[in-house]
Amino acid sequence: MGSVRETLEEEARRARERVAALEREFAGLAEAASAAGTDDEHDPEGATLAFERQHAAALLEAAREQVAAAEAALRRLDEGRYGVCERCGQPIGAERLAARPAAVTCIRCAGGGRAGART
Ligand SMILES: [Zn+2]
Repeated sequence: MGSVRETLEEEARRARERVAALEREFAGLAEAASAAGTDDEHDPEGATLAFERQHAAALLEAAREQVAAAEAALRRLDEGRYGVCERCGQPIGAERLAARPAAVTCIRCAGGGRAGART
C-alpha cells in the first residue's frame, strides 16, 4: 500500500482513462462538426466547434504525456534509476517526487519554481 510503484501505476491508469474519455469527446466533436456540415471558421457555430476541438486536442495531448511520463517513471523504477534526474543525474528530491511522482527531472532542470504547476 502506498508504494511508489502503486502510485505510479495508479497515475498511469487514471491518465489512460482520461485519454480514452478525451478521445471519445474528440471523436464526438468531430462528428458534430461534420454532421452540422460546418467545419468552417466563418460560421459562428463552426468556429465554436473548431475551438472546442482544439481545446479537446490540447487536453488529449496533455493526458497522453501524463501516460508516457508515468510509464517512463515505472520503467526507471524497474531499472533502479527512479528519483534520479534524467538530465543532470542528481537526486530529484523527495518533496518534488511526492508532488509529482512521475517527474524524471530535478526541479532545476525542469525550470525551477513551477514544479507541480501542471500536475
Ligand atoms: Zn537535473
